[in-house]
Amino acid sequence: MSLIDYFATHIVPRMYRGKGALHPCETGRLTDVVSCVREYDVNIFLLRKGKATIAIDAGYKGHPGLVPGCEAVGIKPESVEALFLTHADPDHAGGLDVRQENRFSHAQVYLGEIEENYLTNTYHRKQIGPFGLKNSVTIADGYRLLADGEEVQVGEFTVQALLVPGHTLGHLCYLVDGTMLFTGDAIALNKDGGWCFFGMFNYDSDLNRRSLEALRRRIDLNGVEYVFTSHNGYTDDAKKAFSHIEVLPDLNAKGFLFDETAPYDCFAE
Ligand SMILES: [Zn+2]
Repeated sequence: MSLIDYFATHIVPRMYRGKGALHPCETGRLTDVVSCVREYDVNIFLLRKGKATIAIDAGYKGHPGLVPGCEAVGIKPESVEALFLTHADPDHAGGLDVRQENRFSHAQVYLGEIEENYLTNTYHRKQIGPFGLKNSVTIADGYRLLADGEEVQVGEFTVQALLVPGHTLGHLCYLVDGTMLFTGDAIALNKDGGWCFFGMFNYDSDLNRRSLEALRRRIDLNGVEYVFTSHNGYTDDAKKAFSHIEVLPDLNAKGFLFDETAPYDCFAE
C-alpha cells in the first residue's frame, strides 16, 4: 500500500473520528436528477437527465460498495458517459485506478489541466516533514483535460469546469446546467453553512479561501438550486453554502464537533 493510501484509510480516520467532520449522504436519490453512492466518508454523484448519465468523481480504489450502491440507485456504472473528477486524490479518483476493475468502463474521463500534475507525480500532493506525499492513483490514457471555465455538453447536460485551487492546485468545482454546483473538497458543510474545507489535507488553505471568495463572485448564486460537497452532503441554500468560507474550522480545537449528526467514524460503518 502506498503512503498516501495508508494515510487516507488508516491515519485520517483516526484523526477525524468523533469530530463530526465527515458526513456524506447515504446512498440514494437526492433530487430529480442527482443520486449518490456513499463509500466510507465520500460520495460519488450520479446524474441522469433524458438519455444522458454523468458522474462526479469515482470514489475509492476497489470499494466493495460501488456496484451495490449503483444498483440501489438504478444506475449502472458502465452507463456513465462522462465522469468529471474534482481532483486526483484516492477517495475521488481511486475508482478509475488501473490496478482494479474500472466499473466506469464507458465513461469519458475529465479532469483539470493543472490537476494532471498529480497523476504524473510532477507535483507532490503534500509535504509532511521530509516526506513528499505522492499521489497513488494511475488512470488510463484517454482522459481529457479541462481549462478553467471550459464547458462540456453531454446530452442535455452542460458542465462547466471552475478552477478552485487550494485543496489541490488543480481542484475543479463543476457547475451543471447553471443550477447544480459540485464543490468537491473545497467546502465543508454543516447546519450553520459552508466553511473552508478542513486544513489537514489542503495543499494551501489560504489559497482555498481566496478561491472560494472568487468563486462566490464569479457565479450567480441566485440561479444555483443545490450545492453538493463530497464529504458533507448538500444544501438547497446556495448562499448559505458560502456563508463562512473565510473561516478554516480547527479540527484540533478542544471539544471540536463540526456536525453532531455525523457518524462517529465513517470508516467503521
Ligand atoms: Zn476527499
